[in-house]
Amino acid sequence: MEEIRKKLKEVFGYDSFRGNQEPIIENIMAGNNTFVIMPTGAGKSMCYQMPAILQEGTAIVISPLIALMKNQVDQMNAVGISASFLNSTLSKTEINRIRKATLEGKVKLLYVAPESLTKEENVAFLKSANISFAAIDEAHCISEWGHDFRPEYRKIKSIIDQIKQMPIIALTATATPKVQMDIQRNLHMEAADLFKSSFNRENLYYEVRPKKAIKKQLIKFLREHKGKSGIIYCLSRKKVEEIAKFLQVNGLSAAPYHAGFEPAIRMKNQDDFLNEEVDVIVATIAFGMGIDKPDVRFVIHYDVPKSLEGYYQETGRAGRDGLEGNCVMFYSYSDILKLEKFNKDKTVTERENAKVLLDEMTYYAESAICRRKQLLHYFGEEYDDSECKLSGMCDNCRYPREEFEGKEYVEKAIKSVKQTEQRFGLGHLVGVIRGSQNQYVKSYGHDKLEVFGSGSEQDEHFWKSVLRQTLLNEFILKDIENIGILRMSKKGEAFLKNPTSIMLTRDHDFSDVDTDDDASNDTPASPNAGNSYDPVLFDLLKAERKKIARERDLPPYVIVQDPSLQEMATTYPTTAEALANVNGIGMGKVRKFGSSFLSLIQKYVEDNDIDIEDVVVIKSSGNKSKNKIFIIQQIDRKIDLDEMASIKGWTMSTLLDEIEMICFSGTKLNLDYFLEQIMDEDKEDDIMDYFMNADSDNIEEAMAEFDDEDVSEEDLRLIRIKFISEHAN
Ligand code: ADP
Repeated sequence: MEEIRKKLKEVFGYDSFRGNQEPIIENIMAGNNTFVIMPTGAGKSMCYQMPAILQEGTAIVISPLIALMKNQVDQMNAVGISASFLNSTLSKTEINRIRKATLEGKVKLLYVAPESLTKEENVAFLKSANISFAAIDEAHCISEWGHDFRPEYRKIKSIIDQIKQMPIIALTATATPKVQMDIQRNLHMEAADLFKSSFNRENLYYEVRPKKAIKKQLIKFLREHKGKSGIIYCLSRKKVEEIAKFLQVNGLSAAPYHAGFEPAIRMKNQDDFLNEEVDVIVATIAFGMGIDKPDVRFVIHYDVPKSLEGYYQETGRAGRDGLEGNCVMFYSYSDILKLEKFNKDKTVTERENAKVLLDEMTYYAESAICRRKQLLHYFGEEYDDSECKLSGMCDNCRYPREEFEGKEYVEKAIKSVKQTEQRFGLGHLVGVIRGSQNQYVKSYGHDKLEVFGSGSEQDEHFWKSVLRQTLLNEFILKDIENIGILRMSKKGEAFLKNPTSIMLTRDHDFSDVDTDDDASNDTPASPNAGNSYDPVLFDLLKAERKKIARERDLPPYVIVQDPSLQEMATTYPTTAEALANVNGIGMGKVRKFGSSFLSLIQKYVEDNDIDIEDVVVIKSSGNKSKNKIFIIQQIDRKIDLDEMASIKGWTMSTLLDEIEMICFSGTKLNLDYFLEQIMDEDKEDDIMDYFMNADSDNIEEAMAEFDDEDVSEEDLRLIRIKFISEHAN
């Protein structure tokens, strides 16, 4: 071992091994099959890299992720160890070069994608190479009971057998007891030495929030964590883009990431996040694998993930440096239903497996039991939640719900398992306890059992929760062989003989969270949305506008229009940037008229003790900015408006709508080049005069005024743009 430690320092520069690394390396060196379960970031790679370096020949590393492969090979080469990979991205010449080097014994680690491993020509080549052992990374991909099943992983063992007899090391960061058994069985390594580290991440705070007014909640959360790095996971690419955009529009530093972007964009956004050019990355689960950013301060699940395995891996990316890590999941049952719908085209077995994973997700979210206890229990680890209760490191421990004496209920729950001979799942047991007269219960004669109907006064949800808590307390166990089946434990038998006091907790009630995430409660604040503005401030702002107008000898509407004042009276902007964010006001207007509005709002906010941090304002995004850039560029190039409209496939009226939007927000637009062509000077002057003296800029009123002359609505709108550009912007 002395020798190995020297190598550790020499090659990797580390002084000591971490956790189980040392015994694992010894075990593999002794030629034993080895199974490693270690949380992400704990240092799994070292477990096969070191023996590969120390032993004769080449170690094969089977890994599903091509991007990670390259990364690892680069890292190995950087420390002077010869490593290569074989996957579908290589050319024929490159493949030949790597094969040759391997046969010559020059390659210590050969990374292979499972698809490449199964190719006959590769099998033949590996047979003639001197292979030391095989490492199977991300071994949970073998199991169809987990969340990341890859069918080609199931062929690995038979291929390895064809190559030669060699020790296998399988590694994963996530495996429930069932998945663990499946992996070992599939690789014929039931007798392998198991090295399992604790999955507890003490520094992570877990929280589940109802998915209600989620956009508001998001903005509030991000403002409270301003300047910190975080990841927001969404299920769909579309959602990723929408939310990233939404955050940007609301002045937050965010970038999107999903596999559908061009590699260059993906790379840039990822680098920007790693280099702290942006604070928040909004991503699908494609983001994060192999990313080792130590100071991710929060991981938010905007949508409910498909499984607790996935959830735990994704949240595992927070707080790798052992410091703060907030994990917030937004939950609604309608998300679960949506996910179930996605599974409808799968085979029956796949669908049932996916359903079991989703059920676990629901229980986790709705339960008021320590989150950490639930998560660790899921991965087969017993956890005493008194520690979490003391430190308040999950929402359920920080804000505990009232407990009730559960002795009698737990007893019934255990009895239901025992009396039905440990062959049924939760749903059936609940039916038996509640005395359901369904066919199924009757056909097994379960309506004759003592426990039948003994809990009829409580509802289904209550009993589900009791059974889950009985399970979490290990009075009953999950059957590893048969998914969904509950069995007795020794602890449960003992309890039945001598029932003792046990406190239970009622689940959270999420039943009112049936809104979709885009439902009305978080639609963007539009100038006309409701009458939620502050009427006192609105009147003050109106008076201020009048004053400014008088000073400049302009009609008030030219300064700003009512909807913008209403928005100001809703959002209380106190900085130039915030004011420029108000619809209908741009930086140009802020510079020209902003200061007196700003000082008025500042004073008002102070006098009335308004906490503007609490005022969460949501701005919507859209194609507006794209169109804006297009129009301004075209006007700069003096392109005729008819032509512009035809490029976009718009009517003239639509184009004018767009131009007005830009102009009313304070951008100066010079349309003289176009007006010269279509209108004589006198007519133009008349209309300009009219707007200068009118009470409002209403076009219908203007039409009535010019009733008997040859003035079209289009003319009026064009001149109004000119007028506002010249006087207001
Ligand atoms: P995993 O695959 O388990 O997620 P990695 O193998 O990527 O983790 O290792 C995580 C980090 O820990 C890497 O940056 C690695 O260099 C580092 N590491 C591994 N072993 C040690 C060690 N013994 N001492 C210090 N750092 C280590």
